[in-house]
Amino acid sequence: MTPFKPRRKTVTANVGGVPVGSAHPIVVQSMTNTDTADPASTAAQVAALAKAGSQLVRVTVNNDEAAAAIPEIVQRLGDLGVSVPIVGDFHYNGHLLLRKFPRAAELLAKYRINPGNVGTKHRDDNFRTIVQVAVDNGKPVRIGVNWGSLDQDLLTQMMDANADRPEPLEAKEVYFEAMLESALRSAALAEEVGLRHDQILISAKISQVQDLVTVYRRLGGRCDYPLHLGLTEAGLGTKGVVATTAALAILLSEGIGDTIRVSLTPRPGGDRTEEVMVAQQILQSLELRSFTPQVTACPGCGRTTSTFFQKMAEDIQNYLREQMPVWRASHPGVEEMKVAVMGCVVNGPGESKHANIGISLPGTFEEPKAPVYVDGQLKVTLKGDRIVAEFLEILNAYVERTYPAVART
Ligand code: SF4
Repeated sequence: MTPFKPRRKTVTANVGGVPVGSAHPIVVQSMTNTDTADPASTAAQVAALAKAGSQLVRVTVNNDEAAAAIPEIVQRLGDLGVSVPIVGDFHYNGHLLLRKFPRAAELLAKYRINPGNVGTKHRDDNFRTIVQVAVDNGKPVRIGVNWGSLDQDLLTQMMDANADRPEPLEAKEVYFEAMLESALRSAALAEEVGLRHDQILISAKISQVQDLVTVYRRLGGRCDYPLHLGLTEAGLGTKGVVATTAALAILLSEGIGDTIRVSLTPRPGGDRTEEVMVAQQILQSLELRSFTPQVTACPGCGRTTSTFFQKMAEDIQNYLREQMPVWRASHPGVEEMKVAVMGCVVNGPGESKHANIGISLPGTFEEPKAPVYVDGQLKVTLKGDRIVAEFLEILNAYVERTYPAVART
């Protein structure tokens, strides 16, 4: 039985054929960091993100060149056989670009609008223009409020009103409320222009974990729009992964969140698809979705003097990831499989028995043999130099047998 509360009820938005809402699995999305004006590199990165499992990919559309490149990006993806919906991220000039480049407006699956970045003097008019293009093209819109670019006029009004209260709230509290007000007012305005209720998604991103949790809990209680979840500017490496996981785990466990993105800062030359893998792992660790067979590996300790089993665990994890694009279609259900790779006899047999398939490698001073357990039963004991290869053969046979191949149409 799932330990989680049911998802907060939302309407379903259709984003380029991907349903987003509480009646559907939580969607993983990502964003490119290439220059959108360079269609070759952008299409290649979108394809890589889609192959890694991103169901929606956002690209920045920041100038004429970027907007003009959208048709070629979509064309290149089509040539590669990639059909992932592309979302356009607009700030400052979206009202101009979407009018000037109608083909881009037509090909993008969704427009992201930041209500804090649609101008000041003509803010509402610019916002209305973008929404009207969305209405004309039948596209959903994400109203994406961000702590770092909050509508300053609205914030000032709310701060002034707060100062006039007999007991003013803390400034941070007003800031939270201004974020919610900006998102919900913009949603109401979008509906006034003609966008359907189920064509609106909302996000309200902040870079601090507890603040993000506070804002999304409130947002979840005040509307039934699907919510896109993410810790903005999560940061580099371990900090980014841990902070995002901490925030998203709380909210997802409370049933809040219909799409997620992990905003990691990649290392120079780093792999952009890491953010997709982290997002998937968060959902899989919370038992909300399954994407790839899970490998349980012990951390190793003084009982093992070699890193053989760590290397083996890594090789197996990589092998499973490589196989998944094929297995996903050919062997449905394989993503639920659990594999254990353990370093010695202390916890090895026990963990191996709990997995679908597990191996317990010999620790220091143990006999050089590796028992393999399949569905809790000792199947064979491997020895010698071909332990990894033989284990993978047993693993492949298990997949063939347990998750029968389906005919491709
Ligand atoms: S299973 Fe063995 S090697 Fe692995 S952490 Fe436990 S005691 Fe150490």
